[in-house]
Amino acid sequence: MGTYVEQSNKNFVPLPAAGGLVTSWQVELLNNSRKLSKGCENTGYSTNKRRLAPICGYPDKSQCLPTLGRLATCGTSLIFRQFFILMESSPNISFEDTETAFAYKSDAALKKANFIFSLVNNPWVSSVATTSVKMSLKFRLPVEGIIRKTAFDHFCGGESIEQATRVVEQLGNFQVGAILDYSVEGGDTEKGFDATAEETLRTIEKACTSSNIPFCVFKPTGLASATLLTKIQAGETLTEEEQKAYERAVNRFDRVCAKGHEYNIPVLIDAEDSWYQNPIDKMALELMKKYNKERAIVYNTYQLYRTAGLPNLRNHFHEAVMNNFYFGAKLVRGAYMEKERERAATFGYESPIHPNKEATDDAYNRALAFCIDNKQRISVMSGSHNEYSNYYLTVLMEKHSMNNNDPRVWFAQLYGMSDNISFNLARAGYNVAKYLPYGPVRSVMPYLFRRAEENTSVAGQSSRELALIKKELKRRKGR
Ligand SMILES: Cc1cc2nc3c(=O)[nH]c(=O)nc-3n(C[C@H](O)[C@H](O)[C@H](O)COP(=O)(O)OP(=O)(O)OC[C@H]3O[C@@H](n4cnc5c(N)ncnc54)[C@H](O)[C@@H]3O)c2cc1C
Repeated sequence: MGTYVEQSNKNFVPLPAAGGLVTSWQVELLNNSRKLSKGCENTGYSTNKRRLAPICGYPDKSQCLPTLGRLATCGTSLIFRQFFILMESSPNISFEDTETAFAYKSDAALKKANFIFSLVNNPWVSSVATTSVKMSLKFRLPVEGIIRKTAFDHFCGGESIEQATRVVEQLGNFQVGAILDYSVEGGDTEKGFDATAEETLRTIEKACTSSNIPFCVFKPTGLASATLLTKIQAGETLTEEEQKAYERAVNRFDRVCAKGHEYNIPVLIDAEDSWYQNPIDKMALELMKKYNKERAIVYNTYQLYRTAGLPNLRNHFHEAVMNNFYFGAKLVRGAYMEKERERAATFGYESPIHPNKEATDDAYNRALAFCIDNKQRISVMSGSHNEYSNYYLTVLMEKHSMNNNDPRVWFAQLYGMSDNISFNLARAGYNVAKYLPYGPVRSVMPYLFRRAEENTSVAGQSSRELALIKKELKRRKGR
């Protein structure tokens, strides 16, 4: 413990947005060519950026030769030298192997996945379906059965810890861990917060009985009022009652982390909206100080779509160095972009979100590099479905001579998404876990609506899922 390095970032150059998998050597190559060819309009980098990703996007290196040829128009033998050096050190992993990705899914489950992603892939159909479900739930029409058999079954483990156990074991058969995520949202009462805290404690007890549950997690607004946290961040004076409510919230956070510490189950604290994140960061750092003396038990979440994401990560790590505790960081891009931008526009403050996807991607990959550079003190979980970022992390680990299963590095995806990443990484010996949401159907609906929106709004995500599912269905048909 002790040193504070930022080696990779010094040389880190902004990365292209990955439409498909772009391996590190390809990225460095692209970046170097861009640097070397300043003033040379003919690298094809910017204009062909979108086409380059899929062309250059697969571990079959021969596929990339056309791209290399195009880049070579700038005449840099250095690029080729680096290409071959980097090719030597690229971890041998493919996210295209659908047989491995979907081995845990029966034909029926795969067909259901095909149906769901075909639906969300079409923004119009998705919007009509989502609105109809919302209306049906509002008027208490009996739609729960249909939801349970479709989206719920695909994205959730069940309605209780016991029901979710089946999926935990199923994933465990393929060395993929499960993180039980009690996804009940919107119960903004003291009674609701206490109940969620108790349920989170039960997930830790469950984790103790299963080697397939490596972490536990909670959403801050499951244990504390968003309104109260917002007031604190805004610097408003709290009433006596509010002060007591805040103390109860701190106590709930502490009980969960204390139990995680006692049972040696790391605790992930999710991140939500920027306008009440500061008090959560403060609590998370206090808890790290208390429980991360021997290893990282408490992990705070950093949203790299926020312009403050990377500076916060660095500053909080600095706190860990100054106070001599281990630092747990879960990295995500961030799930609430539209809401953040809308609020900033409504209240007339500068948007806290990066201006474009490229800037978010760049910050995310820099954050990964920062964590690996400081691996003596940082444990990191990369929560992402982005193929390039997942691949980039494997490259960083290899460059730092880390074992694939180094306990300080975890890859995580959501259950029902990006199985091609999770299962292929797990097969290659990396530590992988899936967030496994569970809870009563009605209560997890906000989570399911977010998945529908995300898959519809994030360019390429659902079509990528769909293409992989179709590829596997075709492969199975031809067996
Ligand atoms: C295990 C796990 C845990 C998670 N926990 C949290 C959490 O605690 N808090 C949370 O907020 N989210 C969380 N998420 C969701 C996450 O933040 C992303 O919404 C989601 O994973 C999609 O991002 P991606 O990295 O998979 O990559 P991609 O699909 O490549 O990126 C999509 C993301 O890029 C960003 N983006 C897209 N367009 C733009 C644009 N025009 N300008 C700027 N940025 C843009 C957005 O963040 C968007 O979600 C979690 C995800 C996983 C897998």
